[in-house]
Amino acid sequence: MKLILFGPPGAGKGTQAKLLTKCFKLPHISTGDILRNEVKNNTDLGRQAKGFMDSGKLVPDTLVTEMVKKRMAAKDLEKGFILDGYPRTVSQARSLDEILETGIDTAVYLSTSEKVVVQRLTGRRVCSKCGTNYHLVNMPPKKDMLCDQCQVPLYQRPDDNEATVRNRLKVYLEESSGVLDYYRKQNKLENVSGDLDSEEVCKIISKNIFGSLK
Ligand code: AMP
Repeated sequence: MKLILFGPPGAGKGTQAKLLTKCFKLPHISTGDILRNEVKNNTDLGRQAKGFMDSGKLVPDTLVTEMVKKRMAAKDLEKGFILDGYPRTVSQARSLDEILETGIDTAVYLSTSEKVVVQRLTGRRVCSKCGTNYHLVNMPPKKDMLCDQCQVPLYQRPDDNEATVRNRLKVYLEESSGVLDYYRKQNKLENVSGDLDSEEVCKIISKNIFGSLK
């Protein structure tokens, strides 16, 4: 199963990828996570990507596609993968088809309202050690802004402040319709509401897309 999770920032792509990975034992590839890791390790790619990421812009296609190409060559993807955060432009969607040769199986579009996106992202806090996401209101940690498992302080992603979130949404809206049309024409687009509770969304994807695979 070669599955793409597509939708605005804050639609729950990362959350769904983690839930589905647990159920279906497929590797989760997140271009945002890979890029944040490159920035953390101060690599060449990380230094080139940081400015774009901090201001909510897209990292140039050539850089991201090269990174995805390398990841796709790894041996652990024989049974498929869950890809979150790529493609974000039509040019990336075309590149992905070229890299995979036979293309993807399904692109799940998590359509989500702007109000929900802004509320989710501005309240999101992340464990600096294990990467678990929390939310100030929807899913607070048990005590003192510490991760329940690791007991280390939670932080706010630099691109989760309201101004940058609105910019990320604007960038998304400019690019998204092309990507949606691209997969709609291939008959591979599945629409699921990202406004629903994450367990509910996961149930719908499991039933409608993975079906009897479970
Ligand atoms: P995410 O964690 O998916 O929200 O991604 C965080 C940031 O990483 C985005 O706002 C972009 O700056 C960058 N990024 C992640 N994936 C891509 C991509 N496919 N193309 C361009 N930039 C990306």
